[in-house]
Amino acid sequence: MEECIFCRIARGDVPTGIVLEDERFVAFRDIHPKAPQHVLVVPREHILSLNDLGRRPGDIGHLLLQFIVKVAERVGVEESGYRVLTNVGPDAGQEVEHLHFHILGGEDLGDFR
Ligand code: AMP
Repeated sequence: MEECIFCRIARGDVPTGIVLEDERFVAFRDIHPKAPQHVLVVPREHILSLNDLGRRPGDIGHLLLQFIVKVAERVGVEESGYRVLTNVGPDAGQEVEHLHFHILGGEDLGDFR
């Protein structure tokens, strides 16, 4: 079976637009951007989705939120505003089964659905 694409990106095996990284998380540009700034944040560890994250003990969730804010600062949207979303499962259209948060910004994003 082919290995998870986001695991490969997090390991540095696939060239991509890295925005920020630390020992736990990697942020990189979405290949099909839906806004002027569209960055994905993933844990280096293969966590399937928010369901999987939420069932774990420990402080990874808080560290993840702190990392997301650092990414927003890095791409210059922390003051203008941005949207953070994660798709969980089929009804949400989760395509890649490795937890990822979309950070979207750089323009008026309109109403949320
Ligand atoms: P989701 O529908 O929430 O699972 O979103 C998956 C996202 O991953 C989509 O926005 C894709 O454009 C993006 N994506 C898939 N493969 C890559 C890749 N190799 N590099 C960057 N982004 C990717």
